[in-house]
Amino acid sequence: MGVDRRQFLKIASLSTLLGIGGKAVFELLAPGELEAAVPLMEGKRWAMVIDMRRMTDEIMDECQKACHSVHNVPNFGDPKVEIKWIWKDEYVADEVKHRSYLLLCNHCSNPPCCRVCPTGATWQREDGIVMMDWHRCIGCRFCMAGCPYGSRSFNWGDPRKAPKELSPDFPANPEFPTRTKGVVEKCTFCDERLAKGELPVCVEAANKKKEDLLIFGDLADPDSNVRQALRKHFTIRRKPELGTNPNVYYIV
Ligand code: SF4
Ligand code: SF4
Repeated sequence: MGVDRRQFLKIASLSTLLGIGGKAVFELLAPGELEAAVPLMEGKRWAMVIDMRRMTDEIMDECQKACHSVHNVPNFGDPKVEIKWIWKDEYVADEVKHRSYLLLCNHCSNPPCCRVCPTGATWQREDGIVMMDWHRCIGCRFCMAGCPYGSRSFNWGDPRKAPKELSPDFPANPEFPTRTKGVVEKCTFCDERLAKGELPVCVEAANKKKEDLLIFGDLADPDSNVRQALRKHFTIRRKPELGTNPNVYYIV
């Protein structure tokens, strides 16, 4: 286990102290704690557990390269118009740990983004995946305002015209649709790969470097790998006070 009881209590108190306006920036779950609170779920509920104890900056970069390459995520070479499906950022305050975290759409069980979309271009599947229909997106960006995690990006430019020379590691994938200027995009938990019985590409990329660094599975199945990981380790989820119920967990 990565954290002993003393460390757990220290982080738990910091998690409350560090939040803006007295709110916690993350929720710390003791091993098995979530399980006790999770209602019985029917069907599937896809979830991801990221082992931050063994994660490195290089592996997070590999995950982004793999995801952005497979999904034709444009790279305009300008941080102001950056499109990101998965990225690293210093999420938890320095006092806890001075390091970056791997961030992506949390595929929240209670996703505010879906509630505010006026056209139904973003919606939640029964298995929990928050989807995007780029043909129905009118670019109003309500979902971007609704997402508290910055998990959505807007195409200010034409993704098909993203300069190739800026993205030598991102060869086009002819099997995945490119988007158009003026639509919002984000991670879809690799729904196209799950449909073929494959794992998300970031999971494959990370686990090639270190086994079980990213664990992906069905939270509704008590015997699944994600349930076992949550039973065994201390984990955190982002911004608990919002009640979004994220399905991405971090082993700390
Ligand atoms: S992380 Fe943001 S975009 Fe993803 S489901 Fe939650 S609110 Fe929606
Ligand atoms: S699950 Fe798929 S779409 Fe989402 S960040 Fe990972 S590789 Fe990208």
